[in-house]
Amino acid sequence: MTADGARTARAPAKINAHLAVGPLRADGFHELRTVYLAVSLFDTVTARQGDGLSLAVSGEGAGAATGADAVPTDRRNLVWRAAELLAEHAGVPADAHLEITKTIPAAAGLAGGSADAAAALVALDALWGTRADRADLLELAARLGSDVPFSLLGGVALGTGRGEQLAPVLAGRAWHWVLGIAGQGLSTPSVYAELDRLRAAGLLPDGEELLPAEPVIGALRSGPASGLATALANDLQAPALALRPELRRALGAATSAGALGAVVSGSGPTVAALAEDETAAVRLAASLAGEGVFRTVRVVTGPVPGARLV
Ligand code: ATP
Repeated sequence: MTADGARTARAPAKINAHLAVGPLRADGFHELRTVYLAVSLFDTVTARQGDGLSLAVSGEGAGAATGADAVPTDRRNLVWRAAELLAEHAGVPADAHLEITKTIPAAAGLAGGSADAAAALVALDALWGTRADRADLLELAARLGSDVPFSLLGGVALGTGRGEQLAPVLAGRAWHWVLGIAGQGLSTPSVYAELDRLRAAGLLPDGEELLPAEPVIGALRSGPASGLATALANDLQAPALALRPELRRALGAATSAGALGAVVSGSGPTVAALAEDETAAVRLAASLAGEGVFRTVRVVTGPVPGARLV
């Protein structure tokens, strides 16, 4: 805690080592079977005493005025909704000034907004002394968004339902990745809509049979990196490529530059490229940065823990 009582929490980005998407359900959601991996790219949220709610955003995406990667500073921000939800749950007034420092690019398929919401729940729980237990926080997180419970939990987890029902998965070692970040974000709903369209047109399998996650889970637990590379799978990759044809070149550039495997993360457009070890990841990043196919590249490792006070 700082002298003025401010509390800061940080939460990680995620990549999906496996993402199987079922058909559109009557409630508007898709059934998912996903393997989340929390990686070492963090946003922080600082909560201070305030009068009503106010929010400031700095870092990645803060300057974007429009488009999918613009980060709102009002009620549309997930952090704002997290504050209202926790205040209501705990029966306290929603008084706080919140500051998000973004390192996770917005609308990148890295769950940056979800990370911020999870960090806000943890920071505000400490600021307000609400002492919500873990199960309560997970339940509030699920109401905020499908990926928010995982941002709280971190590590590696199998996500089912909308992705919010989590079972921890063992990772036998640290995995090293290079994230290739595109110049422009992709809106998650538009990628799901494109998946539905391609399926309705018979251009992709209907998704009734969800792709099993066992190969990825087995590889994460004990396999060589090459085993994990071959097991990587993402049903949202085809629609993301349909909306952003240049991503095909980006995936190709990653493998030509020495990645063991590369996959679009979540709804994209970030490309997650797997390397053998940290040295190989740094080399891969340097080579990809020189190609000019990505706005920026980041070397990350995972699993890392979920949202926590710093
Ligand atoms: P998903 O979690 O669905 O994979 P994503 O990681 O691709 O999404 P996010 O960075 O979470 O994308 O942001 C998606 C949208 O949410 C953005 O278009 C943005 O307008 C809105 N948003 C709300 N709160 C935030 C936040 N704190 N940070 C970033 N975006 C936010």
